[in-house]
Amino acid sequence: MEKYRSLQIKLTPQRLAILNYLEGNKCHPSAEDIYKAVTKHFPTMSFATVYNTLEALKNKGNVQELKIDPNKKRYDPDISRHHHLICIKCNEIADIHKEFKVELSEDLTAGFHLVGNAIEFYGVCQSCK
Ligand code: ZN
Ligand code: MN
Repeated sequence: MEKYRSLQIKLTPQRLAILNYLEGNKCHPSAEDIYKAVTKHFPTMSFATVYNTLEALKNKGNVQELKIDPNKKRYDPDISRHHHLICIKCNEIADIHKEFKVELSEDLTAGFHLVGNAIEFYGVCQSCK
């Protein structure tokens, strides 16, 4: 409980269950995945609670929303800057923690001051090969 105090969202047992499920989770779950997992312990939890909690966490900068899966938004509790590898068959998403030196010349940046980048790599995962 203590470690979540800085989140500045009201902690209910349901929200805590969502936070616990997300902590250290590397699967980049969708709201539906999270709903399925947490309703095992909280059968009365609504999908809206899950979705609203994810939105609150996202707005506070505690989870990243990934839009790289065309079928559904995926959530990533790892808010460090990193890249992703996505399976074009099953949409599994894996992390890539590596700095890539990508340079954009001034004629491409349109006056933007660049602060970062996120690269999506596409491929076929081990189990889909
Ligand atoms: Zn796959
Ligand atoms: Mn990630």
